Amino acid sequence: MKIELDILRNAYDYFEESIKYYEIADEDGTHEEAFSDYNSKIKWKMAYITLIQSFELLIKAELKKILDILIYENMDIPITSKSKTISGTKGIERLYNCNPKIISLEEKGFIKECIEIRNSFVHCDVDLDTAEIKPKYCKMYSLFAKMHNELNEESNEVYIRIVNEHRKTHGNVMEFSKGYVVFRNVEMLEEFKNDFLKEIANNKRTGILIDKAGVKYNRYPYGNTEWNVIPPLHEFCPDCAAALGEFHYEDCDIEICPKCHNQLLSCDCELEVYVE
Ligand SMILES: [Zn+2]
Ligand SMILES: [Zn+2]
Repeated sequence: MKIELDILRNAYDYFEESIKYYEIADEDGTHEEAFSDYNSKIKWKMAYITLIQSFELLIKAELKKILDILIYENMDIPITSKSKTISGTKGIERLYNCNPKIISLEEKGFIKECIEIRNSFVHCDVDLDTAEIKPKYCKMYSLFAKMHNELNEESNEVYIRIVNEHRKTHGNVMEFSKGYVVFRNVEMLEEFKNDFLKEIANNKRTGILIDKAGVKYNRYPYGNTEWNVIPPLHEFCPDCAAALGEFHYEDCDIEICPKCHNQLLSCDCELEVYVE
């Protein structure tokens, strides 16, 4: 059997592989080492490499749509079957110069940075943190979808099939690309993280609770095992993301009431944080 893939079909092929690797590596958004499977997590590398590969091919498809010869590194010499095609980094520059409407200056810089990371994965030691790679992956993925639409190929049957077969993943990745970050192993919107940082700075001052009669109680920080039957298994509180030794954050369902020793969230003690 003979197989022929044009540039776009080749891009889809890597794109599909990338989604499959992503589905193995993501483990439903797990970032904590103790709760991750190492052999699954290392698939982030392949998910990332294949996504960048598909992206570079998409750039070429985009250039080719403008003019065939644009996909070649050197356009000033006669094109033969041996002519070298343009690299991803140069390709994105050329595409930007040909049509700055397709991508923004910020996106161009981001894409080049992502290509550099891919190069280091392929040629050097691999050093990756899922908290850093996931936001990059999702943003590149959404740029792939955006640039793909520029080609007017939204209804391409191969693309439709891939997205349909991975509908849930596609939806999750596109949602994550809208500004999610990973902080304390939790996926959250960047704005939420900024508010959280302010709360963390204030955490030390929230150690006393007071009841209606004016009696004060010292709170149990996350990790305290005096009344919690189960020792802390997670690096951060699984409900409110407090670090070991920090006081729990608002409405945490794990915090124990220092007055009645039941769940603080549901007990009848009506304690409030005492502010000096
Ligand atoms: Zn908590
Ligand atoms: Zn209570």
